Amino acid sequence: MSDLRELYQEIIIDHNRQPRNFYEMEDATQKIDGFNPLCGDRITIYLKVENGIVEKASFKGTGCAISIASASMMTDSLLGKTIQQVEAVFEKFHQLITAAKKPETTDELGKLNVLGGVRNYPSRIKCATLAWHAMHAALNQESDTVTTE
Ligand code: ZN
Repeated sequence: MSDLRELYQEIIIDHNRQPRNFYEMEDATQKIDGFNPLCGDRITIYLKVENGIVEKASFKGTGCAISIASASMMTDSLLGKTIQQVEAVFEKFHQLITAAKKPETTDELGKLNVLGGVRNYPSRIKCATLAWHAMHAALNQESDTVTTE
């Protein structure tokens, strides 16, 4: 039980119930669909990047609590950041979720740290990283669809 409490912290439940930046962006410069077939999470990420800075970030879609909360918190965390800063956060977040051992310093991730509990639930890792992989691919214009498989 204590482990499940670690996974579904209050802030995750809150972001799932009331996702931030949950809208279709008309003037997005980047748009990408992400799909996690393992869980059925489908999320579209919208970004508006101007002069190398993320002016707006939003998402739409359906999925489990972890995927929605992660996308919601991610879009919040990207606002006003340069592409380089975004890439740095992406790397750090990826480490937080997937590294066998929790990274020493994750202070710069702020509230994103609450998603760190996912590391103990391998089947949920792709839920937590779906939005991030989609965002990463969108910024690097790798494709217009990302799946976690
Ligand atoms: Zn999921």
